Amino acid sequence: MEALVIGAGMAGLAAARVLRASGRETVVVDKGRGVGGRMASRRIANAVFDHGAQFFTARDPGFHRSVESWLGAGAAREWCRGFGGAQDGHPRWRGTPSMTAVPKALAEGLDVRTERRVLSIVRGRGEDTWLARFDDGEPIRARSIIMTPPVPQSLAILAAGETEVDPSLHSRLSAIEYERCLAVMAVLDGPSGIPEPGVVRDPGGPIAWIADNAVKGVSPVPAVTIHAHDAFSRESWGGDREAAGRELIRSARRWIGSNVTDFQVHGWRYSKPVGVFEERFCIAGDRPTLILAGDAFAGPRVEGAALSGRAAAEALIGQ
Ligand SMILES: Cc1cc2nc3c(=O)[nH]c(=O)nc-3n(C[C@H](O)[C@H](O)[C@H](O)COP(=O)(O)OP(=O)(O)OC[C@H]3O[C@@H](n4cnc5c(N)ncnc54)[C@H](O)[C@@H]3O)c2cc1C
Repeated sequence: MEALVIGAGMAGLAAARVLRASGRETVVVDKGRGVGGRMASRRIANAVFDHGAQFFTARDPGFHRSVESWLGAGAAREWCRGFGGAQDGHPRWRGTPSMTAVPKALAEGLDVRTERRVLSIVRGRGEDTWLARFDDGEPIRARSIIMTPPVPQSLAILAAGETEVDPSLHSRLSAIEYERCLAVMAVLDGPSGIPEPGVVRDPGGPIAWIADNAVKGVSPVPAVTIHAHDAFSRESWGGDREAAGRELIRSARRWIGSNVTDFQVHGWRYSKPVGVFEERFCIAGDRPTLILAGDAFAGPRVEGAALSGRAAAEALIGQ
């Protein structure tokens, strides 16, 4: 294998597409059941939820071209141009039918292997390849690796293989912190009171964001996503998730309007990086090449992840 990409979120898929376009034999592995990472959607009975990233924007012309190709392929569409009545003219896009449509479109034609959790990576014999070891199945040998999990998870994979990183680089990487986010997905028995385009931002208390997936056009039946602030998510992290979910639903009652007939809670341990690394990727090893990428390197959003993944792949090709 010429290149192994760890993580099939936006950064990993963007990297793999650049590598494949350059003719490099590339495999993408992800521990999850599907692709997308934090660009996630879930179904509860007939209700559909975007419960990770809610929308994406494009500032970079190259990323804008990618968005246009997803629009053309029917994997994305414009949602709105501002929230809370304020139209600022900048499109917010969403996946269609839901957020995972975008990573699924990106994964088409790539060799993506899901349900493969990398435990460690070690230098192979002769030191010209990496060997990635998994929790089950055959290891993969690759001439270079791009790692795109949240940075603490990438560092844990390196530590498990006793793969050393320059100490000053290691301390800069270790300093990257992430917000947490508890996400409630609530099915309603009738419409919510959330006005077009289906969002309430920062309504106070523990809630950062409420989105009506039906008004948004993602769900055929009333279905609300509630994102808690970092502080509430941290306080409730180790406790009873169902109780935390009920508290968030109580706090959102005014906006929810109808009765909640079912709900689930998902915890995003690494929701958004707080500080961003100074460069778009980081070379943690050469001969063989090892690069870290992801939203912590180019901005805590979908666009940042894509720009980081691409830059990492271009750097690898240029080596
Ligand atoms: C609640 C929430 C709301 C958000 N809202 C927005 C928004 O509205 N707009 C926006 O632009 N951004 C938003 N974001 C941020 C956005 O989702 C991320 O910036 C972006 O999706 C990150 O992509 P990534 O590829 O860097 O990381 P990820 O999507 O996290 O991908 C990393 C992948 O690595 C895999 N992985 C981890 N460890 C291993 C392992 N050991 N072996 C194999 N695979 C592994 C994971 O399964 C994952 O799929 C939000 C995020 C969250 C959580």
